[in-house]
Amino acid sequence: MALASSWYSFVDPSVQARVLWYTGCAALGRAWIATDVFRLAGPERSRLRPIAWVFGTFGVILLWRWLWSAMGPPMAGFLAAGFIHGLTLLTYVGFVLFKDLALLDATVSRLIAETRHLADTDPLAGLANRRVAMGCGQAWLDRARQAGSSLGVILLDVDHFKSINDQYGHAAGDDVLVAVARVLECLVPPGGLAARVGGEEFLLLLPDTALEEAARLAESARLALHHLEPSDSRRLDLSASFGVTMATGHVAIDTAIAQADRALLTAKASGRDQVFVVPADGGAGSGNNLLSFSGSLG
Ligand code: GH3
Ligand code: MG
Ligand code: MG
Repeated sequence: MALASSWYSFVDPSVQARVLWYTGCAALGRAWIATDVFRLAGPERSRLRPIAWVFGTFGVILLWRWLWSAMGPPMAGFLAAGFIHGLTLLTYVGFVLFKDLALLDATVSRLIAETRHLADTDPLAGLANRRVAMGCGQAWLDRARQAGSSLGVILLDVDHFKSINDQYGHAAGDDVLVAVARVLECLVPPGGLAARVGGEEFLLLLPDTALEEAARLAESARLALHHLEPSDSRRLDLSASFGVTMATGHVAIDTAIAQADRALLTAKASGRDQVFVVPADGGAGSGNNLLSFSGSLG
């Protein structure tokens, strides 16, 4: 554009040629950006779509100006160029304004999404955090009350995790937590949630899940953790203890979790690496109603 502009200003002066070069390049640039943004995938696609429309619309106006200039009579001067050139100038002001507004909108919505992600996610394990788990759990319990179904609740705590840290270091302990999170994430069926609710404590919430089904899933997780090999293939004798309960819509989520915690503490006290189950009505009970589930899979 700079070369063409210099050439048609000093060597072979022509307003029309300059307008054609400028308009053609500008139209192509806008079309390129618009199609590039329209081809984007993922969340950026919807965020940047208004920008694509602004660039695309101005590109079409520039194309119209290019055709008008190419086919119309020779121009006497830029300022006396007529309707389409005035319109281009006017729409250029709109283009700058709307482009900046669209960019601002995209930036703000991306910031909101990133902030929400940071607020909802455990930074190490990449799972939902306690806050999200409590919110989801209560919402799912309310839904279960209306549907007459139940929510499976599994609380698990890695056994002797402190000794992994002590033996291999804190970074290796972090790797183990990430690996545990990936296992749990894979085991939770669609529609459920795996969350990290404490240092080495995880919570699984399973909508429309009966107690037996939740206990089976806990037992699968218990067995899967035995075979866990963190990234550097170090052999670890990893195990976890599990407390399982089934909540109906009549209890609050923290009551259901406290119930699962009671079963988890019993699993710990009974030698760890076990799944203990509290029946749905076990909230008020003493502890006699806790059942060991481990070993009864399949
Ligand atoms: P138990 O079988 O009774 O659960 O024993 P434990 O050693 O797993 O439990 P304890 O509560 O004694 O120790 C938990 C350890 O988890 C202590 C703490 O330093 C460690 N921990 C908590 N959060 C993290 C973390 O994000 N990364 C690492 N590497 N360690 C963590
Ligand atoms: Mg532990
Ligand atoms: Mg713990």
